[in-house]
Amino acid sequence: MRNGLTPSVENKKMRYFSLNNNAITSSFEKAVIDGIAPDKGLFFPEKIARLSPSFIKGMPSLSKSQIALEVIAPYVGKEIPKDRLFRIIEKTLDFDFPLVPVGDNISALELFHGPTMAFKDVGARFMAGCLEYFIQKGDIGEITVLVATSGDTGGAVANGFLGVKGINVVILYPKGKVSDIQERQLTTPGQNITALEVDGAFDQCQDMVKKAFHDEEIKSKRQLTSANSINVARWLPQMFYYFLAYKNLAEVEKKVAFSVPSGNFGNICAGLLAREMGLPIHTFIAATNSNKIVTNYLDTQEYEPGPSIATISNAMDVGNPSNFIRIQRMFQNEFGTLKANLSSYSFDDVSTKIAMKEVFETNGYIMDPHGAVGYLGLQTFLKKNLEHYGVFLETAHPVKFLDTVESAIGEKPEIPESIQDLLEKQKLILSIKDYSGLKEFLLK
Ligand SMILES: *Cc1c(COP(=O)(O)O)cnc(C)c1O
Repeated sequence: MRNGLTPSVENKKMRYFSLNNNAITSSFEKAVIDGIAPDKGLFFPEKIARLSPSFIKGMPSLSKSQIALEVIAPYVGKEIPKDRLFRIIEKTLDFDFPLVPVGDNISALELFHGPTMAFKDVGARFMAGCLEYFIQKGDIGEITVLVATSGDTGGAVANGFLGVKGINVVILYPKGKVSDIQERQLTTPGQNITALEVDGAFDQCQDMVKKAFHDEEIKSKRQLTSANSINVARWLPQMFYYFLAYKNLAEVEKKVAFSVPSGNFGNICAGLLAREMGLPIHTFIAATNSNKIVTNYLDTQEYEPGPSIATISNAMDVGNPSNFIRIQRMFQNEFGTLKANLSSYSFDDVSTKIAMKEVFETNGYIMDPHGAVGYLGLQTFLKKNLEHYGVFLETAHPVKFLDTVESAIGEKPEIPESIQDLLEKQKLILSIKDYSGLKEFLLK
């Protein structure tokens, strides 16, 4: 078979159902275009595909894109032709995902070698590739991707959708609350990307986006879609990381544990799905900062979402993780099964900075604050589970959080060339005051 695809996954069609009402179902295409079910439930695949043990064994001899195609094809079905899907994947994964040893029994899986230096590049690029195909096919006309960002999502979406015909991107970000590098990633691309600075907090940006999605006047003028990890085209390709890492772990004889720094729980949810598909990962650890709703839940069985708490790992400052409901569904909403499959530990900013310093001094490795939370989760787990090999996900490049990293390790990390270029570009800042500003912009 072409591209190493097995016939078993070739002709099936995957439906997605709403987690609010299982009777509401959708094709892959419609789930990608709409983002969320009409009853506001998250979409979940009707079946979890199983990969054959021989495929898993054979992964070391396959390319990144061949592996990724096999993993995602069952969820796309025939809705995107195989050769086109393969090209979307090649474009999505055209950078490295190295496993870097950090001490004896631990590696960092570096997911920050993409254009915006955070792991969200993969999901954003994959989603852009899918939407571009549906537009070219003539199924939808012009579409506007409207998204609020607290930092990394906006940059990844801006980069992933840059120059894609038929798609306009509008990003709302809170004034003064994203880092300089993050703001540059939003405000310098130009073309079909517009960033609007909002004089308020992230929550207000998010509220304005939600309001726009329900505004009939706007909806009559523009087709809107969202691009956060609720969208299946952003959520599912995150499985690739775990398969690609495992390809390089084939020689490790110990049980493997993955620690994932988690905020909205999309990334770890994809990892758990990868395991359900047959990837032999023994343990998953959800590492959280002071936003520890899930960590507490696993301890007490009480789920208590609340307002987000600001931390130095700000991409994980989520007070009500959207994707947790998908994780619960994966384990049949049974607390015992969930607990047997997922460990979780939480760490405050002080311990995060201490870990950054210690790892730098002992191993010379510079962690960003998000990766450091992942490292701490892994370390805590390994202390009690000596028979494991551990991998933590390094979700962002340390230079994205320059001030925090510098104050933690007492040194300035080296600035990569791509960031140097960014620092020379002109920012185009457009400000809006309130919802009427956004509405005016979208209607014109
Ligand atoms: C988005 C993000 C996370 C959290 O990922 P979730 O899928 O929301 O759990 C962690 N680290 C970084 C750097 C991020 O940008």
